[in-house]
Amino acid sequence: MHKDLISIEKAAMMYRALDQLKQKCPKEIRSIIDGIQTRDIQQQEEQKRQDEMKFNNRIPCGFVMNCVKCKNFAVDGDRLRLMSSHHVVDDCDFMNRIEIRELDKKENIGGNMIKNSQIFCCHCTQKWGNLFIVDGIKVPILSVTSFVFERLTRYGLEYGEVKRFRKWKDVSYVIQEITKDELIAKLGPSQQTQINHQ
Ligand SMILES: [Zn+2]
Repeated sequence: MHKDLISIEKAAMMYRALDQLKQKCPKEIRSIIDGIQTRDIQQQEEQKRQDEMKFNNRIPCGFVMNCVKCKNFAVDGDRLRLMSSHHVVDDCDFMNRIEIRELDKKENIGGNMIKNSQIFCCHCTQKWGNLFIVDGIKVPILSVTSFVFERLTRYGLEYGEVKRFRKWKDVSYVIQEITKDELIAKLGPSQQTQINHQ
């Protein structure tokens, strides 16, 4: 009963509004419609602005890299770093996820960097990149095509879209830079401990 009264009231209001509209000249009607359209556009623009803000506030390194072949975990996005033009890993634990095969012929590429070994996924032996000796420290340098990139959403509570990239420059995530000295400072101590324990 109460619902019916509301419907009747609504219908009456609509008729009154239509009556009022009929009394107006076409010019006034046009300006009313224009007003409604402007309000719609403003609302759409506000929504767009809010969506963009959400996107810009995304966690810069919200991704993980998994092996392209077996999909096992390889690197946390915030442990992947850019050193000059090389994509390196500054995580000592990464060494536990790889198999290392030394090259017969080491290659000096300059800048105190020697290409020493090839590195492979420890689960499926997919090639992941190379191991360089930089100032006496082992530094893994990765190939972009060896991994799938999985977005972390809701602050890492869920996994999102999975992407592959053909070139590092195409990667759509923020990759923090690191200097050679910073990298050596991070990786060096753990490798020193390994040597001491041998
Ligand atoms: Zn694998």
